[in-house]
Amino acid sequence: VVTSDEAVDPLLAPLLAGDRRALAQAITLIESTRSDHRVRADALLAAVLPHTGRSVRLGITGVPGVGKSTLIERFGLSLLDRGRSLAVLAIDPSSKRGGGSILGDKTRMEELSRRREAFIRPSPAGATLGGVARRTRETMLLVEAAGFDTVIVETVGVGQSETAVSDMVDMFIVLLLPAGGDDLQGIKRGVIELADLIVVNKADGDLKATAQRSAADYQHALRMLRSPTAGWTPEVTTSSAQTGEGVTAIWDVVERFNAAVGEKGIQKRRAEQARAWMWNEVGETLLAELKKHPEVRRLVGGLEREVEAGRATPAAAARTMLEAFHGR
Ligand code: GDP
Repeated sequence: VVTSDEAVDPLLAPLLAGDRRALAQAITLIESTRSDHRVRADALLAAVLPHTGRSVRLGITGVPGVGKSTLIERFGLSLLDRGRSLAVLAIDPSSKRGGGSILGDKTRMEELSRRREAFIRPSPAGATLGGVARRTRETMLLVEAAGFDTVIVETVGVGQSETAVSDMVDMFIVLLLPAGGDDLQGIKRGVIELADLIVVNKADGDLKATAQRSAADYQHALRMLRSPTAGWTPEVTTSSAQTGEGVTAIWDVVERFNAAVGEKGIQKRRAEQARAWMWNEVGETLLAELKKHPEVRRLVGGLEREVEAGRATPAAAARTMLEAFHGR
């Protein structure tokens, strides 16, 4: 609860006015692991909260090379043409400090990044998926407070990052490559299950016919799955991020999605996401505190070895650790 005599963060006013420097500073603040920064970040986030939630939140995933950055650049520019603004946030838990990330050191979305109505923020380096996901959610609140009316959270098709992204957006888009019937089994069912829209990219040149065939196959495969979103039947389209064909039409699907799901449906999903996020925070915070506890730290190596060697059950070792944490 923010009391009236509590100092208002000097970043708040310029952030709400859409000042990019204030936005960048606020993001740096929430990415900081210093505890005094965290206190300030929490207060700032609480203050911006009433000014958030007014954007269309999209998630986009796809394996490296499928054309995410090429597509987001084109799609993003077409959104700006429609008078919208766009923030692109990336989740890439594999990204390492000092480069070497899958999302690449190459200049991505070069034209988009030069536009005032666009804001592109790569994944914070060297963090766990849980850490990156938390910061991305918080960054999403900050860019919304700064006035961006569209947010794209982008991730690579590895690990659990897709679930993390689908848990923070309104609509989840999966980018796939054209593939023959035999390769279809190779796609990860888990990801398809999250998709509100599948876009088969690189539908150009020699690959165009294959792309259209795969789109029909995916359409068929989707019919056997439950829709991830009440009120919406997942769709499949094709695009060429290179020629631009089918790219602007993605926004038409987004608009139909929003109309079909409705304001109430979107708010319900966001409410569920916020509740799950809270429990996630509880879990992560408790785990961090547990791991810091001196008695736990003294025991943990031995318990791990006991469990690894099959001399203790994981459940019993966990109980010993928790008893130490509670000082029993
Ligand atoms: P990302 O790793 O998913 O971000 O993929 P990129 O956007 O970096 O694209 C990977 C490569 O595929 C680049 O060489 C792009 O020029 C190329 N590419 C992207 N989209 C298309 C497309 O629609 N058609 C064709 N033919 N190539 C594409």
